[in-house]
Amino acid sequence: MPTREKNVGAAQWFPDGTGAVEVMDLTLPESNVFGENVFNDEAQRARLPKAMYRKLREVIERDDEEEDQQLDPKLADAVASAMKDWALAKGATHYTHWFQPLTGSTAEKHDSFFGPAGEGTSIAEFSGKELIQGEPDASSFPTGGIRATFEARGYTAWDPTSPAFILENPNGATLCIPTAFTSWTGEALDNKIPLLRSMEALSDAAVKVLRTCFNDTDTFRVFTTVGAEQEYFLIDEQYYFDRPDLINTGRTLYGAKPPKGHELDDHYFGSIPERVLAYMMEVERELARLGVPIKTRHNEVAPGQYEVAPVFEGSNIGADHQHLVMAVLQRVARHYGLACLLHEKPFAGVNGSGKHNNWSMGTNTGANLLEPGDNPHDNLQFLFFTAAVIRAVDKYAGLLRATVATAGQDHRLGANEAPPAIMSIFLGADLEKVFTNIASGKANRSTPKSFLGLGTPVLPPLPLHSGDRNRTSPFAFTGNKFEFRALGSNQELGLPNTVLNTIVAESIDYMGGELKRKLGKRGTTLEKAVIEVVREVYREHGRVVFDGDGYSEAWHKEAEKRGLLNLRTTPDALPQFVTPGSVQVFSKYKVLNKREMQARYEVYVEQYITKVNIEAETAANMARTLILPAALRQVALCEAAGIEAVTEEIASVTEEFFDRLGALEKVNANHPHGTPIKHAAYMRDTVLTAMAAVREVADQLEGLIADDLWPLPKYQEMLFVR
Ligand code: ADP
Ligand code: MG
Repeated sequence: MPTREKNVGAAQWFPDGTGAVEVMDLTLPESNVFGENVFNDEAQRARLPKAMYRKLREVIERDDEEEDQQLDPKLADAVASAMKDWALAKGATHYTHWFQPLTGSTAEKHDSFFGPAGEGTSIAEFSGKELIQGEPDASSFPTGGIRATFEARGYTAWDPTSPAFILENPNGATLCIPTAFTSWTGEALDNKIPLLRSMEALSDAAVKVLRTCFNDTDTFRVFTTVGAEQEYFLIDEQYYFDRPDLINTGRTLYGAKPPKGHELDDHYFGSIPERVLAYMMEVERELARLGVPIKTRHNEVAPGQYEVAPVFEGSNIGADHQHLVMAVLQRVARHYGLACLLHEKPFAGVNGSGKHNNWSMGTNTGANLLEPGDNPHDNLQFLFFTAAVIRAVDKYAGLLRATVATAGQDHRLGANEAPPAIMSIFLGADLEKVFTNIASGKANRSTPKSFLGLGTPVLPPLPLHSGDRNRTSPFAFTGNKFEFRALGSNQELGLPNTVLNTIVAESIDYMGGELKRKLGKRGTTLEKAVIEVVREVYREHGRVVFDGDGYSEAWHKEAEKRGLLNLRTTPDALPQFVTPGSVQVFSKYKVLNKREMQARYEVYVEQYITKVNIEAETAANMARTLILPAALRQVALCEAAGIEAVTEEIASVTEEFFDRLGALEKVNANHPHGTPIKHAAYMRDTVLTAMAAVREVADQLEGLIADDLWPLPKYQEMLFVR
């Protein structure tokens, strides 16, 4: 087994540049580490008996057209044994079912491979049963009332389609097995189960229409794909540990705007500081070893802000990998004396961080259904599936909006830096014209000549990756995929993609039915039928398409005229999970039943309340124990100097500060009783407002108090990593 030096050199990296960093030459053959910590195809082939290997691949790839490959216990035993040997060879001593409860992050409970074997010896054991199912003591994971504590059993179930991997620590390694998490009554308690179900739903719907209407005999599975561009901040970790707000809430609850923000636009795509680049390289290397392919890295708009983007993958693996990306970003930062902030809005007045969820549909034959083709047939297909997405986003805009609703997001969405809370679609001028022409029935006459092909109203050579960009759109077509750009940087991918897959499945089904009906009429060509269906859909749902400035006041007015929802805050958006329409589409496709939807709704409302409450308590505590004492020292200093005017100024601001602090403590001490959603609205309207009022004066004090008395690192210190 090749040995590896843990965290080569990184720990000695100091901001002043005195630490020596051992340079990793990424061009050397031994640097080709991709997937070395993953029980991937290669490892499976090497370690499993041939017949078992083949069976496992069949389960993973669903490589035939038969439904529901059952997992045979013999196969599970064989895989468990091979996985264990592989993991032991990598230095693992423990294994864990790695799952995604509704906390927003991952969970793990480690068990040793080793059991006593008599006479003071021990033996490594891992059975198929242990691989397939675990029973974590799950009573304290959020369930939204699905599971009373007296029936606290929850099960984790192996997901063979997402490969196991090794989690390393300087003192040992652990085999992590991606698993789903359910209650003992079979309800989903995680984000993986609904995602997998939604992928099935979409595949079934798309395959059906491809086969019955588009004469496709080769496609038997359609995969949804995801690639997420991830934004994050880096600050020196010493500052992080000096800020209780960052530690407790992920964002700064105080801090005056620095004299230099991103006004100069000199950070975006700027050269990457050496320490940060070294960090990025280690992050990418770690991710490569975990089989996560990283494609791009660059500076983002705000100072101290960066972005990393992977190569896209199937939705399930992509969602698992996104968790690894976030975990590795945070873990590796410490090696460089940095803290990685994933909060959506760590610094007020400075751009926040989001995540762009690139989404598409691909077939088992390797075709991308959102890729315009170079012949009329492919383009018909492209128009059909694109129209299905447009219909879905318009029809279920509220539900989609709810998937990105969190306390952190409320500081960002619609704040002239992130897409607005109104869901709309940007198609780009050319594609929008194609659709509007089809809708108006004059496709042949007014579509630009260059888009006409072979006498069809469709556009063979669509400008594939058109330069069109619209940063203000929450949902943009970008050549061969849609980019849902309203996700928060801290967010997992499961939920938004589950909703996307489900609502698009419903749209494909609906449009497929219409298409079939039209094709049933004598003499109707595929072309005519598709154009008609697309026309009807676009006439009804084209209102969601908008290519102007999503930040503008004019758009808010226009959107209202068009009847589009504008759900500004989390308490406004969350009830969308339990509207009859949402419940119906999720039940119809067996992605989540009514109880599971209700449970999620309750969990998210509760999380919002809890988060704001923690922020309020942290804000009050910092105000009382850090800022107030500093202010009083400053007052004393001024009094001692005997300059009355100066004393008066600081004393009056301090008094105002003290009053507002009292008001905050009061409103956060007595939350009114009522429904959870009313409670959430109270937190938003009363508690957050009181916090903002305290902050306003605190930030004023920051400008009045001697620098050496001010107890918190300032924005200008934190935001410029060198
Ligand atoms: P941009 O800045 O133009 O949005 P990037 O190159 O930063 O582009 O990121 C594009 C992202 O889209 C990458 O993560 C990439 O893997 C992903 N992507 C590309 N094609 C697809 C697809 N078919 N399905 C899902 N994601 C995709
Ligand atoms: Mg992007």
